[in-house]
Amino acid sequence: MVLQTMWTFASWAGMLSFAAFVEAGPVADKRQAAKSCCVALEAAGLGERILYPGSASYQGRVDSFFSIDTRLTPYCFVQPETSSEVSQAVKALVADESCTFAVRSGGHTLWEGANNIEDGVTIDLGRMTTTRYHPEKGTATVSPGSRWVDVYAKLGEDGVAVKGGRTGTVGVGGLVIGGGMSFFSARKGFVCDTVEEFEVVLADGEIVIASRDSNAGLFKALKGGSSNFGIVTRYEMEAFEVGDMFGGLVLWNRTHTEEMIHAMVGFAENIEQDPYSTAFLMWWHDPVMFHETTILSGMHNTRGHVSSSLDRLLSVPQVANTTRLAPITSFNPELEIAPIRRRTLLRLTGRRIDNNDDEDGEDSEGDEDNDNAEDDDDNNDERGRRGKSSCCTSTKI
Ligand SMILES: Cc1cc2nc3c(=O)[nH]c(=O)nc-3n(C[C@H](O)[C@H](O)[C@H](O)COP(=O)(O)OP(=O)(O)OC[C@H]3O[C@@H](n4cnc5c(N)ncnc54)[C@H](O)[C@@H]3O)c2cc1C
Repeated sequence: MVLQTMWTFASWAGMLSFAAFVEAGPVADKRQAAKSCCVALEAAGLGERILYPGSASYQGRVDSFFSIDTRLTPYCFVQPETSSEVSQAVKALVADESCTFAVRSGGHTLWEGANNIEDGVTIDLGRMTTTRYHPEKGTATVSPGSRWVDVYAKLGEDGVAVKGGRTGTVGVGGLVIGGGMSFFSARKGFVCDTVEEFEVVLADGEIVIASRDSNAGLFKALKGGSSNFGIVTRYEMEAFEVGDMFGGLVLWNRTHTEEMIHAMVGFAENIEQDPYSTAFLMWWHDPVMFHETTILSGMHNTRGHVSSSLDRLLSVPQVANTTRLAPITSFNPELEIAPIRRRTLLRLTGRRIDNNDDEDGEDSEGDEDNDNAEDDDDNNDERGRRGKSSCCTSTKI
């Protein structure tokens, strides 16, 4: 029954997102349909939870999406406060096939259509923000609309934490069901690995529990399967003791590229001996701050130690360094990214180092100036033909 409902939800939600991109008819018809969906929500008793254009609250919610591309203008937002209200909203919307809708928690997805909809209804979970620690069970209840910085602050009152996002304003809802990388990843795996139980509203409005013992298929699907399996209204997560962490942001001149790559490889290879540390390296070009590309690392140790592999990264002379011992909430703000940029280019480049291949160095120089994804693919093909070893993945958003 649940699987059947999941399938219905998946295919139905897929059709809805398709509908968000393909104009089904004149805009006026779409708006008329959206209007009747909002009226249906009012009739379902959710009138006080609805925001229409023209109010400061409505505009505030549009502006609160992280990416400018996702700041669409739905005919109305509905902001449920409980699982029952989410269920009521879903029932009202699925009763009319012309209702198209989106689901939003923290609103941090970057691309249009993922979490908001033009001229449809957006179910905005931003008012569901409970965080509660259960010492007797060693778990915490976290609601989808919470931001990680608030979750850490609340649980920190009891000296505990859950695995969650590093940037404080990211939402609980999308991060957990998408997998989730955290300060605790090396020791505890993905964020979704620490979920004990989900409460989910299915496509027919039924509220179910997904856990190891109940709806196990749905439980598995939600651990990284992301949206479209239902609307998660509660996350029951493993809670554990945490103290001050060591960490911060560190910046190097890019002339240290070779040393930093070797130090990072050493860090990754040593991770089983150093499971309390995490680090990332980025070659970062921000013309406003620096004229040249710099190397940026966020590094953290959740036990408050400067481990030997972090020490190796830190042994290379730096341009700037904010590392310190502090509570987890102190590290969230410095990992924020200004939400004003419309287009982001993300590139992941991997390369096998072949000692006999001294032409590789020249290719590497060429890559650095190349900011075009298609060119990268061409370079890959070319290297493949010459039997060399490298690969690039580029995403333009
Ligand atoms: C600045 C920044 C920093 C980031 N840092 C990290 C990080 O440290 N670790 C990490 O793992 N990721 C990180 N991310 C990626 C982030 O986890 C994803 O973008 C995630 O989807 C955001 O969740 P959200 O609730 O804020 O987003 P939303 O855009 O609201 O939701 C994401 C998707 O999930 C769906 N969804 C949301 N809530 C629910 C729900 N309750 N039930 C069903 N479907 C739902 C939405 O419809 C949407 O498709 C970062 C992203 C940004 C922009």
